[in-house]
Amino acid sequence: MNTLEFDVLVLGGGPAGTAAATLLAQRSHRVALVRPTNTPTGALAESIPPSARRLLAELGVLKATDAAGFFPNNGNSVWWANNESRSENFSGDGNGYHVDRTGFERVLVSAAEAIGARVLIGMTARKAVESETCWKVSCEAEDGGMVEIQAPWVLDATGRHGFLARDVRETDRSTTTLAITQRFEKLSGWDEATGNHTLIESYQDGWAWSVPLSPTLRCFTVMVDQRHAELEGREVSEILREELAKTTHLASMLDHVNTKGDSWACSSSLYHARKYSRPGLLLVGDAGSFIDPLSSYGVKKALASGWLAGIVVHTALIDAPMTDVALDFFDNRERSVYQSYRHRSAEFFEEAASVYGHPYWTTRAEAARAAVGAGSGPDDEDWLEDLEGTHVPVDLVRAAHERIRSAESLNSRAHPDLRIIKRPAIRSQRIVMKRHLMSDTYPKGIRYVRGIDLLRLVELAPRFDQVPDIWNGYNEKEAPVSLPDFLVGLSTAFAAGLLVHPDQ
Ligand SMILES: Cc1cc2nc3c(=O)[nH]c(=O)nc-3n(C[C@H](O)[C@H](O)[C@H](O)COP(=O)(O)OP(=O)(O)OC[C@H]3O[C@@H](n4cnc5c(N)ncnc54)[C@H](O)[C@@H]3O)c2cc1C
Repeated sequence: MNTLEFDVLVLGGGPAGTAAATLLAQRSHRVALVRPTNTPTGALAESIPPSARRLLAELGVLKATDAAGFFPNNGNSVWWANNESRSENFSGDGNGYHVDRTGFERVLVSAAEAIGARVLIGMTARKAVESETCWKVSCEAEDGGMVEIQAPWVLDATGRHGFLARDVRETDRSTTTLAITQRFEKLSGWDEATGNHTLIESYQDGWAWSVPLSPTLRCFTVMVDQRHAELEGREVSEILREELAKTTHLASMLDHVNTKGDSWACSSSLYHARKYSRPGLLLVGDAGSFIDPLSSYGVKKALASGWLAGIVVHTALIDAPMTDVALDFFDNRERSVYQSYRHRSAEFFEEAASVYGHPYWTTRAEAARAAVGAGSGPDDEDWLEDLEGTHVPVDLVRAAHERIRSAESLNSRAHPDLRIIKRPAIRSQRIVMKRHLMSDTYPKGIRYVRGIDLLRLVELAPRFDQVPDIWNGYNEKEAPVSLPDFLVGLSTAFAAGLLVHPDQ
């Protein structure tokens, strides 16, 4: 059997695996990525929010993603729990994407290869043996040939399959979710006003959504629970039609349509890992945990997980004494990210449970509530900031911003009880120990938001009473930051109680 040696072996070529391989190749490590030619999710159409652009930029694939010509994602229209339609139009820098999954993976895999990762397509990991110094993973090619890959680090990014992750995962057994999906074409096109929107609609015992791939092509998916729906012995296309007929708005879109390709079904039940990292192994993206597709954040979560896994392994390879700290950082992040998405979906499930009262919704609401536990709040909206350790509620930041805007003079001072601790953080794609500000409200410490150094801000702000002067002062020593980012940093410093106004 042919043997190949690498620093890192990435199993799986979805968003998580390609993100990790790209980052590691950027940092000049010898990295191999192994994946089968076709993936089970290949026929999916996926909705990716604009906030994923920042991660794509970090990975150096934003231009290629934009150039691929995916159908823009301009917002969501939601009919939830019998409420009026809620529409959200994305604003700000750039749109999100509605991607044909195969095309999106092509962009990500090409980027990883272009930067220097060795991509082995048409290979499936079959067996892994771990010794004291390295992994030996036997991979099977499509012609039946075998290759052994040796590497001290393996990243399991094999999605739901969970080649190595399976053994340390726990499934949420209170609910089981099956996604059934089908593409439909309507030659005359659909309503132009929501043409670039992801559409979501709940019903008595399930929910459905529709992702557009062009003005005339949409992917419709329903989420059913095997425990509550009659599925046995029935064609998936029949179940899909019947479920979609329970909706009002989505059903009305299905007049005069043609099916494109086959309908198919896959599990969407939730699971999470008991531990996401240990020396030599990280569980990345969906291999470690699966969040409800309701969030439309699965791809972003996988990209972020891959990006962070790359950073953690890079740190271990160049700064061995930091290995345990970096692995714990990854484990903590993956845990809190899963919790955070559970928390967000709980609100939707509870709203639906209160209107429909059906076990489909009541069990989901109860399970989400139990998983989140009392007292856990949602993480910050933006993951990259969150990865750097900020958990300040957005409404507090907004209120602080309003106060700063309306004040004639800022007159701030550092909170008298502020202390400084050392904690791990991401800097220049490495995990390092950094000084953090610690207060009673933020006992774990806080340092950066939108790349703004809050420690420096807290030292600087009390010296000036006008915001532009603080901004200029800040930019004198640091690489210049934009005013909007700076204002978010300043507002966060007040919202987190690091800075206080004189009357506080
Ligand atoms: C029905 C449905 C709809 C969804 N819609 C959305 C959406 O609209 N927006 C969104 O953001 N997310 C959505 N998601 C979630 C999203 O698809 C996943 O969260 C995301 O793809 C996870 O990426 P990943 O790289 O971790 O895993 P995957 O994308 O699953 O990639 C796993 C990779 O591992 C490979 N692999 C598997 N076994 C092996 C092996 N033994 N050896 C080597 N390679 C292997 C696979 O071929 C694949 O390349 C949806 C999920 C489902 C099920």
